[in-house]
Amino acid sequence: MPQDNNPNNTPSNLTPLSALGEFGLIDRLTAGITLYHKETIKGVGDDAAVIDAGDKVMLLSTDLLVEGVHFDMVYTPLKHLGYKSAVVNISDIAAMNGIPKQLTVSIAVSSKFPVEALDELYQGIRLACDRYKVDLVGGDTSSSNKGLIISVTILGEAKKDEVIYRSGARPNDLICVTGDLGSAYLGLLLLEREKAVFRANPNMQPELEGFDYQVGRQLKPEARTDIREKLSALGIKPTAMIDISDGLASEALHLCKQSGTGCRIYEAKIPIYSQTRELAMDFKIIPSVAALSGGEDYELLFTIDLKDFDKISGMEGISIIGHMTDASEGKAMVTADNKQIELTAQGWDGMKNDERL
Ligand code: ADP
Ligand code: MG
Repeated sequence: MPQDNNPNNTPSNLTPLSALGEFGLIDRLTAGITLYHKETIKGVGDDAAVIDAGDKVMLLSTDLLVEGVHFDMVYTPLKHLGYKSAVVNISDIAAMNGIPKQLTVSIAVSSKFPVEALDELYQGIRLACDRYKVDLVGGDTSSSNKGLIISVTILGEAKKDEVIYRSGARPNDLICVTGDLGSAYLGLLLLEREKAVFRANPNMQPELEGFDYQVGRQLKPEARTDIREKLSALGIKPTAMIDISDGLASEALHLCKQSGTGCRIYEAKIPIYSQTRELAMDFKIIPSVAALSGGEDYELLFTIDLKDFDKISGMEGISIIGHMTDASEGKAMVTADNKQIELTAQGWDGMKNDERL
């Protein structure tokens, strides 16, 4: 959820949303919630809730996509949007080390959308359900005064001892990340740039050629449901895990907060595709900042015991980017030129004075 950057209309005795931010708001709204059922093993605070179901657990998560906030109809094909709305939920189940099973889809649609547009949206949702073997089992349909809102709720499953929480990391655990980061954000910047060009001159053709990877990462991400089996085949059980929806920095801070640790991440170890690196420089952005603050890559960030170093080294497509530390050591990033800076959720804060910019 974006922060409300326009608190001007808030009466002085009331608190603007921007004073809390998304996570502050969630903390406030959910503080002290009573859990009545012993089956509720984990409520708010992880990628999915964990519910005891006898010999296994059910995993439950939900995500909301709002037109104009999470997607722009100018450059978002509805089929891709449908696919993405399912995938971002599937990703949250993957982040708990679970298997996605069923989902529901609720939509609020304004009259500007013809039936065929919604057919396309559902083609994308169905494609994701086929690809990830998830059953679409229900939902709700409403009209909306303005724009399109999509809410997907997903159920997953895991064996009790397989679930991985954000809270299990310990000092000295290695911090690992799957795939590469930052490309989805560069894809967004490309799409926004072409939108601006098109607005200025509708005869201009968008210049996206050659950047299929970045645009694809933004419009049609995949969930890393493959990681569960790959890690298990190597005999590795991560101590903590989270999916990267908001950016590496924000997710690393979540792991630290929930686990009660600090961390040290090495900028030079952050995996960024070479073409994305070049593209970032063209946009006058430090590539690591795209990875730290960009988000929407839907890769997995996880920690493992140091003793599993040899095992993980043999796994393709995994980068070890740092390690957890004692909480007293703080949350740090060691820059490529070997300076230690504080890791902040808005990577820009820590790096905006960087002379490399
Ligand atoms: P993610 O990025 O994995 O989807 P979020 O950052 O959206 O997770 O949410 C963090 C945690 O807060 C989750 O456990 C989520 O269920 C919970 N949460 C988010 N919004 C609300 C809300 N409005 N009411 C209750 N819980 C919420
Ligand atoms: Mg998540």
